Amino acid sequence: MVACIETLLRDNETVKTRATRVVVLITAFFLCAQWICHRYRRLSNASSAPATMAPVQQATSLGLHQAIINVMPIIIFMTTNVADDVIVETECSICLSLFEDEEKVKVLAVCNHVYHSECIDMWLSTQSSCPVCRASLRPQSNEL
Ligand SMILES: [Zn+2]
Ligand SMILES: [Zn+2]
Repeated sequence: MVACIETLLRDNETVKTRATRVVVLITAFFLCAQWICHRYRRLSNASSAPATMAPVQQATSLGLHQAIINVMPIIIFMTTNVADDVIVETECSICLSLFEDEEKVKVLAVCNHVYHSECIDMWLSTQSSCPVCRASLRPQSNEL
């Protein structure tokens, strides 16, 4: 009878330790999974961070990468600047309106065509060339 109780207790004990081990394992697994998830989310966030306003980022094959658009210098348009070669145009060919003083414009490095900053940003999110002359703005070295 005593032996019986002893084995029962021992059995009970092993079941308990086994259960504890399983719980520990499950907890460890969940922690691991959570950590991996967290890391993965952070990584994918970091790679697409600047593209907050473009949920259709699958269209990157057509448009320019946001990072490239962001590094294009913004110039504050001044009618007085037109004289010194920086800006050779006075009209945005995308929205067809004249540039006004203190408006933000971007000059395309490849062809010197000038557009409103917002107009060309929007254009380049779906296209990779100049709207007027179709000069490619995609970097040659690597697909960004
Ligand atoms: Zn415009
Ligand atoms: Zn052009």
